[in-house]
Amino acid sequence: MDLKKLASALIPDDDLIDPDKYEEIYPPRDLPAGAQVTRLAPSPTGFIHLGNLFSALADERMAHTTGGVFYLRIEDTDLKRKVDGAVESVIRSLNYFGIKFDEGAEIESKLNIYGPYYQRQRAKIYRAYAKRLIEEGRAYPCFCTEEELDEVRKEQNAQKLITGYYGKYAKCRSLSEEQIYSNLAAGKPFVIRLRSEGDVNVKHTFHDAIKGDITVTENDQDIVLIKSDGIPTYHFAHAIDDHFMRTTLVIRGEEWLSSLPIHLELFKALGFKTPVYAHTSSLMKTDGGARRKLSKRKDPELSLDYYRSAGYYPDAVVRYLLTILNSNFEEWERKNPRSDWRDFKFKIDKMSRSGTLFDLDKLSDISRTRISQLSAEECYEFLRGWVEEFGTEADKLHFADGEYIIKILNLIMGTSGKKRRKDIERAEQGVRLMDYFFDDAFNPDYSFRFGDGTVNAVLDGFAEIYDPADDNSVWFAKVKSLAPRVGFAADMGEYKANPGAYGGNVSDIAEILRIAVTGSPNSPDLCTIMGILGRERTLGRLRAARR
Ligand code: GLU
Repeated sequence: MDLKKLASALIPDDDLIDPDKYEEIYPPRDLPAGAQVTRLAPSPTGFIHLGNLFSALADERMAHTTGGVFYLRIEDTDLKRKVDGAVESVIRSLNYFGIKFDEGAEIESKLNIYGPYYQRQRAKIYRAYAKRLIEEGRAYPCFCTEEELDEVRKEQNAQKLITGYYGKYAKCRSLSEEQIYSNLAAGKPFVIRLRSEGDVNVKHTFHDAIKGDITVTENDQDIVLIKSDGIPTYHFAHAIDDHFMRTTLVIRGEEWLSSLPIHLELFKALGFKTPVYAHTSSLMKTDGGARRKLSKRKDPELSLDYYRSAGYYPDAVVRYLLTILNSNFEEWERKNPRSDWRDFKFKIDKMSRSGTLFDLDKLSDISRTRISQLSAEECYEFLRGWVEEFGTEADKLHFADGEYIIKILNLIMGTSGKKRRKDIERAEQGVRLMDYFFDDAFNPDYSFRFGDGTVNAVLDGFAEIYDPADDNSVWFAKVKSLAPRVGFAADMGEYKANPGAYGGNVSDIAEILRIAVTGSPNSPDLCTIMGILGRERTLGRLRAARR
């Protein structure tokens, strides 16, 4: 068969260049020895998930600790899934977590000579290589319809055979020249398939940078390279793009491990050197005692937007992911508690080989710790960033008064170096925690444990003697002084010795005041809260809480 003629009939494009030219257009990168070139290659679906951040972090670390490059490629060959703004959203989300690309789609960089970085814009390269493979007899047209392929699958299933297009099931592999041209003349749609030379009975040892030595079976499937609409499959585009973008290390989810034999054969057929592969294990969670993969449908915490909108401290999310990426990160962090996570020596071979357990409680705990280490000013900036993007109009107005918020934060977080409180877990919860400092957001729950007469006597009594100039001890003495008025014990010792003799004690008086002023029986130091609220607002609240 005249393969050159066949290639031109199947791929008649007259704007293709000699594929070898691409070796010059995209020359090997001029990088120091050992530098790793990594990439994130998401589909532009608009959904960016924790797994993306997990991989991106490993990619970014591997590139930036070796003097290499981390770039963004958009795998948009499946047009049905394209969502406007999705690329910007990937970049923005990763930036939020402190991860930056050096080059790629929508990234301003002088390094951008390996583009275009959208696969849809790379059709010519794929087609040039598909044509070359047809000329070499390594690819052929397949005219099988969906129905025919279905039939074959059913037959294979019935016989408990591996499904797919291979061996005697690869019908179009042996079409005669005549049949091919008559199909083309009849305008039958076709795909271009690889003519596999592999044998599933042959196994090789392959070194995966995460999984270690694994056994891979040769591929014998005549997989589709170019679909009937002219668009390449993931497999074909992966081999061509990672070669010409000069990727040295492909970090991707373990769901791709089963396609590895295909990719190894493709790199060989194309005459390209295979990159190093690192397959990351899936993020799992415990659910009702069993482990399962995090799911888009069931687990909101899979979406990266969840962490931004709930306001987890971004650095904490990264630190948490590092604890599951490298088991020695926690120990390093204990020794270097305030160091930048970028100073940690990340190692790809320390990554977990099988299912990685994701624990939101632990992440929350790290977020709480990191936030507690901020100064009130830094915390204000962090919360304000969240308020600007996700807060209510009222939140925005409240946050315009930075001085007032910082006073509140000093109270909530504690000012003394060692005894920082960990009450703020994430921005959303932290902002709500401050609501009672603003009349328009104050939503009290007046659940007093005492009768109306007692409550009113305490509220009125305190209003009469309250003076914002009082320091903590004078303030407390005044609270105590109300005890005899309502038949409560002013002295805790006396109360404990004879509880039956009193209606309550001094801490119950403080509780009545606390509920009136903050709307809840739990709050930080009440005297300071009254000081921040100021005289008028405090007295107003004492009045409003009367029964
Ligand atoms: N577009 C593929 C995905 O999102 C990329 C896999 C890879 O990194 O090669 O799963």
